Amino acid sequence: MTASNTILTDGFGRKHNYLRISLLEKCNLRCTYCMPADGIALSPKASLMTTEEIFAIAETFVKNGVDKIRLTGGEPLLRKDFPEIISKLSELNVSLSITTNGILIDRHIEVLKQSNVKKINLSLDTLVSSKFHSITLRNQFEKVIDNLHLLLNNNFHVKVNVVLMKGFNDNEIVDFVKLTQFLPISVRFIEFMPFAGNEWDRSKMVSQQEILSLVETQFSSEEILKLEDEKNFTSRNYKVKGFQGDFGIISSITNPFCDSCNRIRLTADGKIKNCLFSNSETDLLTAFRNGKSITDLISESIQNKKKVRAGMVTMDEMDDPTKHFDNRSMIAIGG
Ligand code: SAM
Ligand code: SF4
Repeated sequence: MTASNTILTDGFGRKHNYLRISLLEKCNLRCTYCMPADGIALSPKASLMTTEEIFAIAETFVKNGVDKIRLTGGEPLLRKDFPEIISKLSELNVSLSITTNGILIDRHIEVLKQSNVKKINLSLDTLVSSKFHSITLRNQFEKVIDNLHLLLNNNFHVKVNVVLMKGFNDNEIVDFVKLTQFLPISVRFIEFMPFAGNEWDRSKMVSQQEILSLVETQFSSEEILKLEDEKNFTSRNYKVKGFQGDFGIISSITNPFCDSCNRIRLTADGKIKNCLFSNSETDLLTAFRNGKSITDLISESIQNKKKVRAGMVTMDEMDDPTKHFDNRSMIAIGG
């Protein structure tokens, strides 16, 4: 272990080299599992990190061992200064990526290329236009599909994030897998997770086991190849023999991957969260604005990280809504 990465190593020996930065809390979609029906109280603009603050805080993380940065939100491409932010961050020695709903990709494709972004996570929960409206409350299906193809034509590696909900899109699992026959994409099925205001309950979730069983209704076990897990994986990946793309399952609820967690999140208002499910946050931005060093705060947050899902080890704890009330809504965390 080098001196430069010790503040990002937690009490369980996990090294946090992957920073996810949320750029804003606003979005041009209203996905019901992410944005509460009544919206959220937005932080005042002055409380959000500026381009310069994002860069300076990111630089501190990079000096301490971060080598991977993902921009998220809200919808990161909605931020007017997105081109400046991504260009500036590309000066750091990191692998840069974004998670986006895809609507504004065509507007930003050139700056993404110039900033050396190679990998993009694009969220798309259905392949049926009318269902897209019912989950996102907006009519942008065609635009997202066009932009998915634009990314592929420009040689980006695209992971398609699909949040599964029973009775809504579990009947499309096989269709998403079939999409990988001719498209070189990685489809990632995500178990629906609980956050403030998203009315989660376990019965709405489609589990890893159920996903695999549904895939097996169409493809034989000889056809489904298990791919090797990546280091610090969140997704357990598979491929249908002969298909161009692959598919994976992100099972934060039924089969969490906390042992190899290397992620830390920075919210748009400059707070770090050491776990997606954690209610406690550490305010870096205020300290930074007051001219104080933020490295001790980062270290303290990393040292306080719990072994599993912010201390929620059992399914009963995950099922308890009171454990999630004090967390943010996903739209304000950044996935
Ligand atoms: N707006 C961008 C997008 O949709 O890709 C980035 C932000 S969004 C919060 C990041 C990811 O979180 C998306 O892939 C979204 O599907 C996922 N997400 C949001 N709420 C979720 C939930 N309750 N459970 C699982 N994944 C969720
Ligand atoms: Fe917006 Fe992404 Fe949340 Fe959907 S998942 S509401 S696109 S932030």
